[in-house]
Amino acid sequence: ANQTKVEANILLLGAENVGKSALTVRFLTRRFIGEYGSIDTIYSHHDKIDGRDICFNIWDSLCPQNAEEPGHISQRQLQWADGLILVYSICDRASFNVVRQQVQYIRQAQQKLSSSAPLIIVGNKRDLQHQRVVSSEEGRLLALSADCGFFEISAAEAYHGVLMVFHELLDLIREARTIK
Ligand code: GDP
Ligand code: MG
Repeated sequence: ANQTKVEANILLLGAENVGKSALTVRFLTRRFIGEYGSIDTIYSHHDKIDGRDICFNIWDSLCPQNAEEPGHISQRQLQWADGLILVYSICDRASFNVVRQQVQYIRQAQQKLSSSAPLIIVGNKRDLQHQRVVSSEEGRLLALSADCGFFEISAAEAYHGVLMVFHELLDLIREARTIK
């Protein structure tokens, strides 16, 4: 077996308050704290998955509050990322629209950069069913239309779902590398 170390740069995008930091911290520490402040940082996390050493670099970004370009993504971010997680809240319609715009922007930019970094769309706050305004079907259709993975999860509740997002993205990143 090939035992070389795998390194994966993962960029989290999406509107403010959708749970990007909660998802990141939950993956890194298994804990859900509740309040995270406004953080824009890259965490390095070493893991062993199926006997292989993995280094996750996770960029928990802040969504720029630029009125003209909500959710603008910098060239630097796109070039850095091996894989992207786009998070919205199932209780926040505007956050779903931000993800829709970001997906379109990224897919166009990737054509120019001839980049094939995989994308996963995450509908977070699944525990707040009574406040849901974005249906699972809408999320799934958006993902299908742009060839993205899709999960609905709760960063607050089920750790399993959080793990699946990162592991699935890692699989897609490794797949994309073998195709190259
Ligand atoms: P960010 O701005 O996207 O990084 O969002 P945060 O991670 O800071 O989360 C924003 C707020 O949503 C915080 O008060 C979190 O406690 C809360 N939150 C995040 N994920 C969940 C979730 O899955 N369920 C619930 N109920 N609240 C969540
Ligand atoms: Mg945050």
